[in-house]
Amino acid sequence: MATVSRLPGPVADLWQWQLDGSCRRENPDVFFHPEGERGPARRSRDSAAKAVCLGCPVLQNCRDHALHVREPYGVWGAMTEYERDATYIPSPVLPAAS
Ligand code: SF4
Repeated sequence: MATVSRLPGPVADLWQWQLDGSCRRENPDVFFHPEGERGPARRSRDSAAKAVCLGCPVLQNCRDHALHVREPYGVWGAMTEYERDATYIPSPVLPAAS
């Protein structure tokens, strides 16, 4: 689940880029894997989604958003959830307060 506290407020300008996304003309199923999809089928679908993203005029906005809110599923900004996960710096483990 996305970290809701990281989402920006309801300011239209912050979301305007989404109206220009190339994926708006595509089947959303290309960007989100079905339950249990693995292996070549998953790689093929992810590649198809990334190909759309690479021609998208708002790729950087989309990628920045997905990384900022830690979108947990799907291809955003030509990155899969696993590729995004690999970029996150783990939070330090703090000792419990006593
Ligand atoms: S970068 Fe990809 S997921 Fe993001 S808006 Fe563009 S086409 Fe859609």
